[in-house]
Parts: sequence; C-alpha cells; structure tokens
Amino acid sequence: MKTPMTCLAAAVTLGALVVGQAHAQNLIITDARIIVGPGQVIERGSLEVKDGRIAAVTPGPSKPAKGMTVVKGDGMTLIAGYIDTHRHLIQGRGPEAVADFMAKNAADRMRELLESGVTTVQSGGDDNAGILDLKRKIESGQIKGPRIVASGQVPTFRLKDEAAVREAVRKVVADGADSIAEVHYPEMVWPFNPTVQETKNLTAGITEAAKLGVDFQVHAVSDQSLTGAVHMGAKKLIHSVNINFVSAGQAKEVAAAGAMVASITGFGSPNFDVFSKDNKPKFRDGKPWPEGIVDSQGVGQEAGYMPVNLRTLHDNGVSIAYATDTTFFAPAALAHELKTLSLVFSVPDLVEILGPNSAKFLNKGNDLGSLDVGKLADILVLGGNPYDGFWYFLNPVVVIKGGQIVVDKRGQPDAGKPIVRYGY
Ligand SMILES: [Zn+2]
Repeated sequence: MKTPMTCLAAAVTLGALVVGQAHAQNLIITDARIIVGPGQVIERGSLEVKDGRIAAVTPGPSKPAKGMTVVKGDGMTLIAGYIDTHRHLIQGRGPEAVADFMAKNAADRMRELLESGVTTVQSGGDDNAGILDLKRKIESGQIKGPRIVASGQVPTFRLKDEAAVREAVRKVVADGADSIAEVHYPEMVWPFNPTVQETKNLTAGITEAAKLGVDFQVHAVSDQSLTGAVHMGAKKLIHSVNINFVSAGQAKEVAAAGAMVASITGFGSPNFDVFSKDNKPKFRDGKPWPEGIVDSQGVGQEAGYMPVNLRTLHDNGVSIAYATDTTFFAPAALAHELKTLSLVFSVPDLVEILGPNSAKFLNKGNDLGSLDVGKLADILVLGGNPYDGFWYFLNPVVVIKGGQIVVDKRGQPDAGKPIVRYGY
C-alpha cells in the first residue's frame, strides 16, 4: 500500500500514464448483481479488479484470495461508470476566469461528477488551454475527478475561409485536444439558412479533423442541419434535434452515414429544485421555462421534439449516446437527463446509452462502457436495481475509476438511496 506521498513522487518521476497504475487497487466486489452490459445481468456474482482493469466476472459465491481488498456487494448492483459525452466543465474563458475556476470550483465540481457516477466526461468546447490544464491536474492526481476527454473549439463561422479553419484545427489538435466540439451549424440556428462560407468552413473543419484522426462534433438542432452536417462528413452530432421533427427517412440517412447523436434531451424539459425551491419550471441556466429556452419560440415545444426525435433516430438504426450539455449540479443533471430519456427509452436502452454507446461516441469502446473482462475498472456500486426504476441509477454508494475507489459512501445514512429531487 503506497502512501499519498510516494504516489505523488511516482507521478513526478514516472509521468501521467503510470500514475493511474500506481494508484490502482486490486480488489474484489462480492455478492452483487452485475449489469455487465445491455441485456447481460448476473443476478449474484463477483467482480475482480487487477491493475486497474476488470480481471474476472464470476457468477455465484466467491472466495477472495488473502490480502485482497474486499468490497461486499450485499445484493447491490454493479454497472459501468457513466460517460457524459458533452458537458461544460469550466465556467468562463481566458486565463483569469480559468485560474479562478481552478482555485475555487474545480475540485468540488469534479467531485460532484464522480459522486453522480460519471467516471468519464467529454468537455463541451471549454477554454482550450483551461480544459487541457484540468485534464492534466486530474491525470496527475492533483484533483480527483473523472477521466476527461478534452474538446477544443474552432469557431468555423467566425473564421475567414477554409484555410483559416484548417489551420485552427491543426493548432487545437497539436495543442493536445482529443476532439473538436461546440460548433453550431448554422450559427443562426433557425430558419435554416447557412451562408455559403459557413458551410464551406465547416466542411473544411470536419475533413481536416478527420485527417488528424479526431472527431469534429457538430451541434445540429434542426432536421436540415442534422442531415446537412452528416452529408458534410460529421460522424458525431451533439444535441437531439429541438426545432422540428426528424423524419424516419432522415434518420435512415444519419444511420447510413454511420453517424451518432448525443442525447441532451433535458435541454427541452424544465428542471425543478436545482436553482430555487419555488416549484417553478426552469431552463438549464435558471431562467424561467419555457420563455428562457435559448433559440426558441418560447412555448416549450422542445420538450416534445427532443425525446421523439431520439426515438425516431434510434428506431432507424442510429446509436444514441448520453450527454447533458449542462453546467449545473452533476447529480441533478444526471437525474434530469435520465428522467427525460425515460419518456421514450426503457432501462435496457438506458444501460446501452450510458455505457457502450457513449464509449463508442468517444472512440473508447475497447476500454469503457461495460463490465466485460479486460476493460478499465470504472465501476459503480448502486444501492438498488435500475431495472426497478431509472432513479436507481442515481446516487452510487461506491465509485471506482481505473481500479481506484474515488467515492465511498458505505455506512452513510443516505448512501445508495434513490434520489429524484435535487437542489443546492
Ligand atoms: Zn454544449
């Protein structure tokens, strides 16, 4: 057992990649229900972790070897750590705002994400330097937080021409971004009327990013922008369409192109108790719902379009990933997104959306998204069984990231109890 000091020393001498290994615990979780993946549930079994990865998943009782850390499952449920494929992590832009966030908020916000069960998160076009700094701080153990997939931002519509876009893409990727996100197509979302240069620029951005092996993710909020972006080569779309209905034919075009869509259904539906306790519906920034919904006619139609469109896409062969696109209290953001997804998706669908689909969205299907042997040991111990209701996805008792216990609420009075109401 290494002390924190020797871990820190290892971090300094061996570099970030090895740090996860240095912290990883070899452990076994016994007597638990194991949701290995969609449709694969072991009612009672054990799961063994070695060197940060899942080493064995075994039905029935088990006899842990001597010296092994044992987590008693006691009939609780194991599931792969959740993956949010688009969330805004840093508030503000520029060195001053980022420094302020790092000093005052970063540790708490990252802890809340882990406590909600999110063990991997892709940033949504945060400050380019800031998000790389946050990722480094987490990987080096300075801040405890989820695994970060760092998106850079390239504002295609503001750049002069295709050459400028290609140069910006190369710079962001050379600086260390894992992907590019937060580009709306078109910038003026409705009516669908992109300028010729805007379309040329975005096409250049998507193709340049593809050459460098990274995804250029597009916010497409109307049926035409969705199919338009897909025809330009976009493989990852952020946001369920919220301005009109997507037809089955359009959904088939998206599927045929092999493109995926990140959910963000919660965008259209109000939340309660997050910003105030006045029982008034609120948009995700705390403004009144529906009039506060951004880019909207203000009657709340998004709450209907978004889930229906996701179901249409799903039923026509498009993989749906999980994303919140929020900044507010992470456990509440998860509860809100699952509530809205539950309107059109079953629990087995949610297991697929939160796990394997989101891992695939981040091109990490080999390492994340399920509890199959060989994957990274990102594991949640849930108090109840999500198949009894989506609220049992919430409030994990133990959170393990890369084989390391990062949240442990065992013995606490509310540990594992389903939480459906949240507030500060
Ligand atoms: Zn966003």
